Amino acid sequence: MELRIPFSGRSIRYTEEEIAVAAEAMRTAEPLTQGRHLRAFESAFARYQGVEDGSCFAVCNGTCALELCAALLRLKPGDEVIIPSHTFTSSAYPFVKQGARIVWCDVDADTHVVSAETVARAMTARTRAVVAVHLYGYAADARAIAGLCRDRGVALIEDAAQSIGSELCGRKTGTFGDMAIFSFHSHKNFTTLGEGGLVWVRDPGLRPIMPMLRHNGHCAWNFDREDYWKPAMGNVDLPMLDGEGLQPANYCLGEVECALGCRLLDRLDSINDAKRARALRFIDALADFPELEFLREPTRRHNYHLLVARMTSGPEARDAFMRRMYAEHGIQCVVQYLPLNRYDYYRRQGFGEADCPNADLFFDTMISFPFQPWMSEEDFDYMLVRTRETLAGLRGN
Ligand SMILES: *Cc1c(COP(=O)(O)O)cnc(C)c1O
Repeated sequence: MELRIPFSGRSIRYTEEEIAVAAEAMRTAEPLTQGRHLRAFESAFARYQGVEDGSCFAVCNGTCALELCAALLRLKPGDEVIIPSHTFTSSAYPFVKQGARIVWCDVDADTHVVSAETVARAMTARTRAVVAVHLYGYAADARAIAGLCRDRGVALIEDAAQSIGSELCGRKTGTFGDMAIFSFHSHKNFTTLGEGGLVWVRDPGLRPIMPMLRHNGHCAWNFDREDYWKPAMGNVDLPMLDGEGLQPANYCLGEVECALGCRLLDRLDSINDAKRARALRFIDALADFPELEFLREPTRRHNYHLLVARMTSGPEARDAFMRRMYAEHGIQCVVQYLPLNRYDYYRRQGFGEADCPNADLFFDTMISFPFQPWMSEEDFDYMLVRTRETLAGLRGN
C-alpha cells in the first residue's frame, strides 16, 4: 500500500539561497576540502554555541567526532565509561573500540534522558568518563551531571547529535562538559548534505593536536628547508598528548558542506522554533488522550528533533496503535533505540547486562511519529486527526 506519511530520514529542504551557496562553493572552492570554508564554519559554529573560537573541529560525521573523544580519553584497561542504554549505537561503540568497559546507565522515566541521579548510580571507583546524550533533542540536566563529574574527577562527553540549538539555563547543549559532539546527518535538525559532524573540546591543551588527529597525522616540518619539496611537502607524525601517541585517521569534512553549514546556521533557530511550535500544537491537541504521554517542553530546552510519546496503556496498545496507523491510514510511526545491551554487537563483547528498567519500559511502549519541518499543514493535520481517531478506536475495544 502507498504510504501517506512515511518516516522520512530527511530533515531539511534547502532554500534557493542555501542551494546557491553550495553551488558557488562547488564552482570556486579550492581545494574542495580543508580550506577557508572549514575555518569559517568552525568559527561560525563556535559563535553560535557561545564558545571560544578555535575550540570546534568539523569532521565528516558525528560518529567520527565520538571516535575522537574516545581516543582523547586515553583509556587504560579496566577503565569504565558510563553510557545510557537508551541511545543510538554511535554513542557507545567508539568507546568499546578504545577498550572501555561499558557501564549502562538508565534514563529518567519522564524525560527519557540521563540525569545526575541515574549517572551517579552507575558510578564506581573505575569510572573514567560519562557520555550524556541529549536524546530526541531534549537537554539532559548537563549542569548537574557536569557538577557530579567534576566532583568525581570524571570526564563528561555530551552527545548533542540530536540537540543542536537546545538550551539549558540560557546555554547551548554541548557547552557543559569537557567535550561535546554534534551530528549533521540527513535526519538531524541541521544537516550538511547528509553527512557531517563536529567535536568541541574545552581544554585548550587538546586543541593543537586536533587538526593532525583528524587528518592522517599531517603536520609541518619543524625545521627550515631550502626546497619546499624536500624531504616532502609536509611531515606525518604521531599526535602526542602528555608523552602518549594517539592514532590519527582521516575525518575531514568537505568545503561544500562547510560553506552550506555556515549559511544554514542562520536558519537553525527558526527551524527549531517551528518544530517546537508544531510539536506543542500536536501534544496540546491530544491532551484529552492521557494514554499517549508526551514530554511537553515549551522552552528552547527541547528542539523536538523527534516527536516521541509513551503509550501508558501498555505495549499491546502501543503495537495496536502503530499497526492501525500504518495499515489503515498510511502513517509510519517507528520504535526507536533497542536498548544497546540487547544488540549482538554489545553482548558478544560482554556488555549484555544492564540494570535500566526505565529504558526497557520506554522501549516497549514508545512511539516516534514522522515529524519533519517540511511536512505540509495538510499532512500534519491528517496525522493529528488520524491519531485521535485511532486512539478513540482503541478505547472502544
Ligand atoms: C546521529 C547520532 C550519532 C551519530 O551521528 P552520525 O553523524 O550519524 O555519525 C550519535 N549519537 C546520537 C545520539 C545520534 O542520534
